[in-house]
Amino acid sequence: MIPFLDLKGINAQYRNELIEACTKVIDSGWYIQGNECKAFEKEFASFCGTRYAIGVANGLDALSLILRAYKELDIIKDGDEVIVPSNTYIASILAISENNLVPVLVEPNIDTYLIDPERIEEKITSKTKAIMSVHLYGQTCEMDKINKIAKKYNLKVIEDSAQSHGAYFKDKKCGNLGDASGFSFYPGKNLGALGDGGIVTTNNEELADTIKALGNYGSHTKYENIYQGTNSRLDEMQAAMLRVKLRFLDSEIKVRRETADYYIENIKNENITLPTLRTNNNHVWHLFTIRTNKRTELQKYLLDNGIQTLIHYPLPPHKQEAYRKWNNESFVISETIHDEILSLPISGIQKIEDTKEITRLINKWREK
Ligand SMILES: *Cc1c(COP(=O)(O)O)cnc(C)c1O
Repeated sequence: MIPFLDLKGINAQYRNELIEACTKVIDSGWYIQGNECKAFEKEFASFCGTRYAIGVANGLDALSLILRAYKELDIIKDGDEVIVPSNTYIASILAISENNLVPVLVEPNIDTYLIDPERIEEKITSKTKAIMSVHLYGQTCEMDKINKIAKKYNLKVIEDSAQSHGAYFKDKKCGNLGDASGFSFYPGKNLGALGDGGIVTTNNEELADTIKALGNYGSHTKYENIYQGTNSRLDEMQAAMLRVKLRFLDSEIKVRRETADYYIENIKNENITLPTLRTNNNHVWHLFTIRTNKRTELQKYLLDNGIQTLIHYPLPPHKQEAYRKWNNESFVISETIHDEILSLPISGIQKIEDTKEITRLINKWREK
């Protein structure tokens, strides 16, 4: 069996370093907001090329706290609109609606699966305050076009980088392509904790300070609360383990790129559409997604032959019960993607023999 993602195997590579990191935390007697989190924030900011990084509890909180900080800073207010791709993972949208803001869905480009910059302007109203650009599956959005629109209409650009740690747009890395960015360290992400974790990156000092306080009960100084904040912090144990894993992220991305390159060069089947990438370094291949209108058959065929695949995602946000008010609306491109998409195994430890075997089986597949 070739699993979709062997998390145990991924972390086993760093077993000794992870144990050492945890032991250090255990023995320090300091478990929240200590030196490990501080050091990781510094290292991650430097990895992204930003001035600030603020550790938080998870990726959803990272996105949500950015919006919440803009509200505290009187830049965004209740009822304002935030543009977001219609095919994103639900968390991007939840971050908007949980702040009493209105998500405005924009269709993606069918080839890249990323928000289509050509469709943004028609959705802008006097209430639009921000664009959330989701670097879905690990590929950065067309940030030059998005930033240009944002500048024209005076909008904030918030990157959802939960799937794209280390991906570039031109000469800059994600996290440093807009006004602020949220990252997730959910275990299955390209940089995954052994539990929950997230971080916000930005170059804006005031925003960074506000987010830091909001995630710590609204306080900069213990027992002095300037905002009605929340508790969203990256704990020392996760930060210590993330420091270990960050050192190996680039080499894991390299393996992902080699795997994707092999799939792209060698998968040849007229029933299958391969993913489109702009340049090699703007994609870190969190997911390798192909499309076919015979998805059920292909998924079953691969499983029968020992290959596990997953669907990211089976149901578009506007068809979810949580967003009933959108259920009758139609986003044709999103719907097509959700009906046809299938994620093949890919990871920082995938063996070339496995990639070859998956490719061989797909090339042999003929729809009856
Ligand atoms: C995983 C993910 C999130 C949320 O991250 P969590 O750490 O699970 O809260 C947000 N957006 C996207 C695109 C994601 O893939």
